Amino acid sequence: MSSKRFCEICNNIAILSTTTGELVFICTACKNQVLGEPEDTLIKTDVSITAIDLDSVLIEFGRYDNCNPLEYKPCLKCKKTDYMRYIRSRETLKKIYICPECDYSETS
Ligand SMILES: [Zn+2]
Ligand SMILES: [Zn+2]
Repeated sequence: MSSKRFCEICNNIAILSTTTGELVFICTACKNQVLGEPEDTLIKTDVSITAIDLDSVLIEFGRYDNCNPLEYKPCLKCKKTDYMRYIRSRETLKKIYICPECDYSETS
């Protein structure tokens, strides 16, 4: 099963969220919940998504998104790159830096 789907509403990428232990895909743009397989009866639609959860989705997705801008910021973990991608936190509006080489992320 793929861990990514597309939002039926806005066509952005929805990512599998296991935060609640339920199988649900969350749109990274509008927070719409995209259902998994139609026959999957475990899906619940009353899952509330916090901004923190959304940020972790943004980080996971943003690492591979070449549209996110690079900024001079050496990665402290792998030291392979001097430039990290950044995204804006939906909650705090601060920058979150993401190393494109490893799984390191850092809030400004
Ligand atoms: Zn959407
Ligand atoms: Zn790194």
